[in-house]
Amino acid sequence: MSEQIYQDALARVREIGESAGVNAEVIESLMHPMRTMTASLPVRMDDGSTQYFTAYRCRYNNALGPTKGGIRYHPEVNQSEVQALALWMTIKCAVVGLPYGGGKGGITVNPKKLSRMELERLSRSYVRQMADIISPDRDIPAPDVYTNERIMGWMMDEYEHITRQKAPGVITGKPISLGGSVGRDDATGRGAYLCILELEKKHGWNPSDIRVAVQGFGNGGYHAARLLHERGYNIVAISDSRGGIYSDSGFDVPSIYKEKQRSRQVKAVYCTQSVCEQVEHSSISNEELLELDVDILIPAALDGVIGTHNVDKVKANYIVEVANGPVLSDVDAILHEREIHVVPDVLANAGGVTVSYFEWVQNRSGYAWDLETVHQRLGDIMSKSFNEVWDLSQNENRSMRNAAYTLAFRRIGEAVNAHGTRD
Ligand code: GLU
Repeated sequence: MSEQIYQDALARVREIGESAGVNAEVIESLMHPMRTMTASLPVRMDDGSTQYFTAYRCRYNNALGPTKGGIRYHPEVNQSEVQALALWMTIKCAVVGLPYGGGKGGITVNPKKLSRMELERLSRSYVRQMADIISPDRDIPAPDVYTNERIMGWMMDEYEHITRQKAPGVITGKPISLGGSVGRDDATGRGAYLCILELEKKHGWNPSDIRVAVQGFGNGGYHAARLLHERGYNIVAISDSRGGIYSDSGFDVPSIYKEKQRSRQVKAVYCTQSVCEQVEHSSISNEELLELDVDILIPAALDGVIGTHNVDKVKANYIVEVANGPVLSDVDAILHEREIHVVPDVLANAGGVTVSYFEWVQNRSGYAWDLETVHQRLGDIMSKSFNEVWDLSQNENRSMRNAAYTLAFRRIGEAVNAHGTRD
């Protein structure tokens, strides 16, 4: 996660905007984040000392609606990254047709080093600092890397305490008992899975012939791998931040998940009801995983993992971006030329924010949907969005990323025009 990531994101917007003949004013409006707040969060640690953590919230663009996007806890969070992620949220919400602009937040912290109470105090402190910009109609946070529903619950509680009223729509990805939606937990992975099902239909794939490598076994990567495995896809490689495993004959994803829950590590095991036993495999690094000869590569960890340094070694036919920004812009053209197709993050991982939107709609109407309704509506949105992107890319020989961005720019452009001039 370099300081350069935002410049890289802007370069891509400019380049695609020009190639698609998008109105220059619209592109220019996407070059400037509306507002980025920085704060130092004082947190009382368990030993009585006070530590300060740097925090950000960027409201990037609100042409299409209130700004929306997660909050990331990671030691390398910086302003450049938060702004890049907020720009991608702006594009993502437009690609899947949600009535939202884009935003993002983050705290520079290693959450694994905090106790549960320290984590709660940090999360509440974040909301106290950002309470003036978040609200159900202005800016709506959600989970992202290393944040989860428990943290969303604390944040909502703090916000309600400050505003003296119930406000479940201020944040999504909450526990169900606080107004969270069924189906939000696996929505990011499910969205990517639904994109792959569309590819399956287009190509007439037989799932067991398709070899898949998954980098990252967090919420997105795990659920994508689980659903693909259930459908019979061959998951030949999996990794987490400590490294990965490879087996030609594929892994039993539920066993690996079970073991990861137990030992906090991805290990090559097969589990029966009572025991987990090691299975034949080779250990691979995260870099090696990206270079495997597979049909589908799913980078589901962090940004910037595929760039000029390794693009020549990538052999997958499809890259399905479950992480935000795993492919750097300077290799977009190379991948397109080599006919390595990228299902871009702004489409492939949009299932998460789509079910966040469902959660917010449910909160505002005070009526909870059942799982079947959530799955049905997520399926409709993902299938429609995928096919819009696919058709544009086929008809005009553009990469799928180029097509997705073009659709987003058109939608944002219409809204910018409709708003009129405000200076
Ligand atoms: N953090 C997720 C993303 O990058 C979800 C955002 C949301 O639900 O608002 O898409």
